[in-house]
Amino acid sequence: MSDEELRPPPIRPSQWRAGIEAPSEEDIVSCVSCGLCLPHCPTFRLTGRETASPRGRIAAMRAVQEGQATIDDTFRTMMDECLACRACETACPSGVPFGRMIEAARAQIEPTRPLASRGPRALGLKYVLPRPWAIYAAAAGMGIAQALRLDRLGPAGARTTTPRISLPKLARPLPRTMGSGPTAALLCGCVMDVAFRDVQRDTMRAVAGSGYRAVRPRAGGCCGALAMHYGYPDAARRMARDRIAEFEDAEVVVVNSAGCSNHMKGWGHLLNDDPEWGPRAAAVASRVRDLLELDLATRSRDLGTIACHDACHHVHGQALGPDLRRVIRSVGGQPVEIPGGGRCCGAAGLYAVLQPELSAQLRRQKAAAITTTGASTVAVANPGCAIQIAAGLREISSPIRVVHPAQLIR
Ligand code: SF4
Ligand code: SF4
Repeated sequence: MSDEELRPPPIRPSQWRAGIEAPSEEDIVSCVSCGLCLPHCPTFRLTGRETASPRGRIAAMRAVQEGQATIDDTFRTMMDECLACRACETACPSGVPFGRMIEAARAQIEPTRPLASRGPRALGLKYVLPRPWAIYAAAAGMGIAQALRLDRLGPAGARTTTPRISLPKLARPLPRTMGSGPTAALLCGCVMDVAFRDVQRDTMRAVAGSGYRAVRPRAGGCCGALAMHYGYPDAARRMARDRIAEFEDAEVVVVNSAGCSNHMKGWGHLLNDDPEWGPRAAAVASRVRDLLELDLATRSRDLGTIACHDACHHVHGQALGPDLRRVIRSVGGQPVEIPGGGRCCGAAGLYAVLQPELSAQLRRQKAAAITTTGASTVAVANPGCAIQIAAGLREISSPIRVVHPAQLIR
């Protein structure tokens, strides 16, 4: 053997950008490439492509980690096509933490995007969402555009899945407090507070009726989940700190959106490296409860069969599938399962806007599956899913009603 052949292969530097969080080597190597997650991955099921599978995505992260590949268009597409639904995490026997890996990979790719796509994302995720007044201003602008039917000038796909804003409801604030007892602060959030005001009010009423003093924080605002999912962890930390400061005096923090409750329970991890905020974040996160987890006082009526839509961040993030069914039974409904129930509806944060074709396929599959249940109502406890499923049912002219479980509680 020559000296050349005996020399070990050069160690290539990782291609992750310094100073930005990246998938950790430990997480990457925890994947043993068994492929058991593949049948559970909605984007693999749709496309049949390894590049649209969890295993393929982790292999791509590994290639960047080991310096075999750079963050290029192929890598960006592979990460962008992921729903971050975490179905692969539930299925994985090796406990691969795919959710935090995809978030870190997206933080890495965000600065590499062309300005034309990065600019609007940064504007929304970094500048609008952390400012409650900007969320309301944006929602009011959207509501005016919808009232004047100017939204018809935009792309049809985006219009289908854009929340409808009722200006009269937006102008009618929620009460500051309801009921008496231990303080339960409500996360106002972003989409939930501007597009689902009725659900917010019903949530406060349900919490107050269950022996709490339900409080709407003075400022309100977003929990930061969307910013975290789409590559802006610093903005997500800022929003977490703002909300934590609002919630520190509350005995319970109540959240009626699956994606938000799942994200907020991880605030301790998000601010782990911050000596001041880390312990405060962990303390508040330990008091976060999804509405479905509360021991709610309900009155039973005959509500007939109700199809149960499991939001990804309920079933894969928090294992709250049984809680949805318990709440439905407690109000007098008979829960029925949707075929392929735990599969993502394609809403996935901004996915319907950023990946309209894949999202539309998942939306239609979900809507068709719901119609097979024979139920006249489908319970959906996440705003993105509610908008997406309502759009899917409209597309197939189905009269099935989409309701949040809070709306069923009397
Ligand atoms: S998060 Fe969802 S879409 Fe992404 S790889 Fe996992 S199962 Fe597939
Ligand atoms: S993520 Fe888990 S299930 Fe999927 S290939 Fe890797 S080890 Fe196997």
